[in-house]
Amino acid sequence: MKYSIHNEDKVKEILKENGFPTFRYAQIENAVYKNFVTDFQEIQTIPKKMRDLLDENFTFNTFEVDTEKTSENGQTTKMLFKTSKWEFIEAVIMRHKTGRNTLCVSCQVGCPMACTFCATGKLGLLRNLETSEIIEQVYYAAELLNKEGQFLRNVVYMGMGEPFLNYENLKTSINFITHQKKIAIANRRVTVSTCGIVPGIEKFTKDFPQTSLAISLHAPNDEVRGSIMPVDHTWPLAKLMKSLDDYVDATNKRIFYEYIMINGVNDNIKLADELGRLLKGKLAHVNFIPYNAWEGTDSDGYQTTPRFIIEKFQKTLEKYGVVSTIRHTMWDDIDAACGQLANKKEDDK
Ligand code: SAH
Repeated sequence: MKYSIHNEDKVKEILKENGFPTFRYAQIENAVYKNFVTDFQEIQTIPKKMRDLLDENFTFNTFEVDTEKTSENGQTTKMLFKTSKWEFIEAVIMRHKTGRNTLCVSCQVGCPMACTFCATGKLGLLRNLETSEIIEQVYYAAELLNKEGQFLRNVVYMGMGEPFLNYENLKTSINFITHQKKIAIANRRVTVSTCGIVPGIEKFTKDFPQTSLAISLHAPNDEVRGSIMPVDHTWPLAKLMKSLDDYVDATNKRIFYEYIMINGVNDNIKLADELGRLLKGKLAHVNFIPYNAWEGTDSDGYQTTPRFIIEKFQKTLEKYGVVSTIRHTMWDDIDAACGQLANKKEDDK
């Protein structure tokens, strides 16, 4: 089996074993990350023997692209990758006219957190992705956008899985994609989204004070939150909010709070007041996400909150001085919410 070219240690190791000086790595690095070569033989700055060595041992993609779908308006492209172990993971590119191109990446195959509304949660955890597998998703999107004459500006860890349960690989992958000589995404344009793993938030605060943080909050009290997100039983809101206050104190950065709108579950207008009281005076931005129904939604039979109620919710929140955005479901026609395509595939298997 070939190694990923994004496994820098391995590349250096094999160069060394074969008697090439490791400074040669810089030439490979430049060709791969700045010129987006698609074939090692295109790297004219290195000797033929070294190009052959790379061909023998490395690949740009340990994944196969199983499906790649672009929405009708051309804004969203969803990739379903098949890993070398024949599992399915997803990544989504969201293009914006302003050039704010964003990639959503996965960090685990499946997820153990079991949020009731989430398609990935239904799969359970199959395994953590390797660092190079996270990087491959980013590289794939950067290269695809490069071919369109565009570039990748933002990366959000909001695909399949819980980033803070794969912390070491998350950390190495962020350091890699933000590295000047690699894909050079600005640190503040990387966002990690968590369901609320407190020890992870604490580590992240120390390690990545410049990187953005999003919290899947989804309810302003433990009763409702605990009924849809089992994580709340381990790290209830009081503990979660304390770790988030500490994050803001240390970084002075605004936190994004995700609030999925599920009809009759967490959209009672009283909860908007409660949310307002919870976030009042904090450095916070709330994103309302209309619940995205997926094939196989089980007995819960969830539905999206009607638009006018989401707007009422938002208005109520405004009274507390809390800013928010209602997100579009611009990916509806391609099943682009977390885990939906992969879930279908696992069912097929
Ligand atoms: N585990 C991380 C990141 C992955 S989920 C987290 O919980 O934040 C990314 C986002 O998609 C989360 O906010 C999650 O709650 C949301 N999500 C999951 N299923 C969804 C659905 N069916 N419709 C809309 N949003 C969903």
